[in-house]
Amino acid sequence: MLAEGVLAGLDPEQRAVAEAVQGPVCVLAGAGTGKTRAITHRIAYAVLTGVVAPQRVLAVTFTNRAAGELRARLHRLGAPGVQARTFHAAALRQLSYFWPRVVGGEPPKIIESKIGLVADAARACRLAFGRSELRDIAAEIEWAKVTQHRPEDYAGAVATAARKLPADVADVARIYTMYETLRRERNLLDFEGMLELTVAVLTEHREVAAQVREQYRYFVVDEFQDVNPLQKLLLDAWLGDRDDLCVVGDPNQTIYSFTGASPSYLLGFTREHPDAKVVKLVRDYRSTPQVVALANGVIGQATGGAAGRRVLELVAQRPDGPEPVFAEYDDEVAEADDVARRARKLIEEGVPAREIAILYRINAQSEAYESALAAAGVPYVLRGAERFFERPEVREAVIRLRGAARAGADAETDGTGLIATVRHVLSGAGFTDRPPEGTGAVRSRWESLAALAQLAEDIAADDPSAGLPEFVAELEERAAAQHAPPLEGVTLASLHAAKGLEWDAVFLVGLVEGTLPIVYAETPDQIEEERRLLYVGITRAREHVTLSWALSRSPGGSRRRRPSRFLYGLAPMTTTPTPARAERAQRRTTRGPQPCRVCGRPLTAAIERKLGRCEDCPAQLNEELLVALKEWRAKVAAEQRIPAYVVFTDATLQAIAERSPETLEDLAAIPGVGKVKLDRYAKPVLALCTGATPN
Ligand code: ATP
Ligand code: MG
Repeated sequence: MLAEGVLAGLDPEQRAVAEAVQGPVCVLAGAGTGKTRAITHRIAYAVLTGVVAPQRVLAVTFTNRAAGELRARLHRLGAPGVQARTFHAAALRQLSYFWPRVVGGEPPKIIESKIGLVADAARACRLAFGRSELRDIAAEIEWAKVTQHRPEDYAGAVATAARKLPADVADVARIYTMYETLRRERNLLDFEGMLELTVAVLTEHREVAAQVREQYRYFVVDEFQDVNPLQKLLLDAWLGDRDDLCVVGDPNQTIYSFTGASPSYLLGFTREHPDAKVVKLVRDYRSTPQVVALANGVIGQATGGAAGRRVLELVAQRPDGPEPVFAEYDDEVAEADDVARRARKLIEEGVPAREIAILYRINAQSEAYESALAAAGVPYVLRGAERFFERPEVREAVIRLRGAARAGADAETDGTGLIATVRHVLSGAGFTDRPPEGTGAVRSRWESLAALAQLAEDIAADDPSAGLPEFVAELEERAAAQHAPPLEGVTLASLHAAKGLEWDAVFLVGLVEGTLPIVYAETPDQIEEERRLLYVGITRAREHVTLSWALSRSPGGSRRRRPSRFLYGLAPMTTTPTPARAERAQRRTTRGPQPCRVCGRPLTAAIERKLGRCEDCPAQLNEELLVALKEWRAKVAAEQRIPAYVVFTDATLQAIAERSPETLEDLAAIPGVGKVKLDRYAKPVLALCTGATPN
């Protein structure tokens, strides 16, 4: 494609981005306004006009899938050979390359998950924790490392950041110390360690820095609102004293603050680079006016923090589409069944399954949808679970395709084209035109091969001259980057995993208090991050968006849940009654090992026993009561000059607010409320719970 052609598909602001080929550039723009499109076109334009050689460009993005998407788009725009990677993948590549020369010896093994090592560390410290607490402690260690806090200053950092911890801060700090000791002893490296080491090599070895900076001199970062301090350090090390950096992002889509990411780098970009060119995009090309109006409605209610600034309203460019659907159900099973039915209807009406997504807040929610979709005969793909290129049938198919390319099978099928050739080769691996009867392994094998056949169609559509060798090269590139082709099924994904992506139809499910916002989001900042998650979810939809919630978890359960507060004023909804007194009185809690009062699973972790439910299970939290309890606690703590947690910990207050005890017996049954506490505080607490004014 010619350079002018690259600019042709852009609006004036996007064009300004593409034409600003040099120097620092910052694009601040809302969802679907073409940020990702603008940067791919900018890179292609710079390459085609000779400003930079393609191999000198490093485009950094958030997920392997997004990186693959960038590469594919650049390929189509006539700029193949540009590196598009995640921070992790880019660092890993550099480190593996330089390790033998600057360090030598066996390089440390990279661990993908911390959980095993954290469990060992806890055991070594003689601390017993359940699996969900260990998971949370691993997340804490990740946060500490990402925000560059060593074990010694972890406790102080936690206090400053007002983090809610899964365990005592001293215990987490001990486990963190032990984790690092064990990690070193075993010669392991976690993801953060890998980034740190790359930064260290670049700072301490001039010749390495010189070589890396010689290789890359043109940097582009997508989704910059979610960059974390460690990634920023790495980016700075890559750049050195140069400033050929273009960042794009949307502060309203900041959804990883809890892991240590911060929009401050995006918002402070011009402070760091006073000569930066700043471009704002407002036209939304992705979604219909109906979807855009809903998204504006949600984000327009944002308060405080990053959103305190005036929020940029998106302006829809597409023709009208259907109104958003709001749906309330009695229970989660009914919700999942109806969503599956609606998805099937959309497919029957011609929406391809791969253009439909069901998005939820926590992964545990996927199960209900998996069974409902299976029962409705709708194929689905679980995101995050896909190691596509490691599946045996895919490996076999790739070997066959490679062999066919080497043997020049293109020529043999005399010009019937890439699609026919690929289908012919795949048929040798058992691929048929129609899917096999039944489900399970046979079906999933067919789906894999069908995805490869579809990929051939996509590539042929982009480039009619592409042959088998190009197709195989594309497969190899994708395999290296773990970039699976879209499988022909409805996508099931968490809201976090959906960022940057788009579908024709999106179902946002389980929108109840306790799930969105998630129960442990307490501070105003945390609540706002939850609101942004909903905004990210809505803005994934091109045309159809359905928002749903269920009033109870299981069929026949009491309808005690309330729709997400973020929907008030936007959705018609029935007001849900507060639980009847009698019903509450029946909910006796007992001490000792106990089942989750939401799902019935036996509770092992201390914090879960305290809450009386799994941490993941949504709770019916009486927020007003919680606020009142916290105010009361602050008053008591101030009067008695003791820290608030000595009165009651957050977890205990939350448990009280969830259960609203009305009798001394009910209150005493809540873990954390012992005899001393009862003597001192039972009266005012019960007064708050029954709605009287405490004295
Ligand atoms: P997000 O914030 O969700 O990452 P984004 O700003 O990166 O969104 P893109 O993914 O680049 O947005 O674009 C959204 C959709 O709009 C894409 O399908 C893209 O092809 C389309 N689009 C963007 N700009 C234009 C344009 N000028 N003309 C036509 N379509 C466009
Ligand atoms: Mg994008």
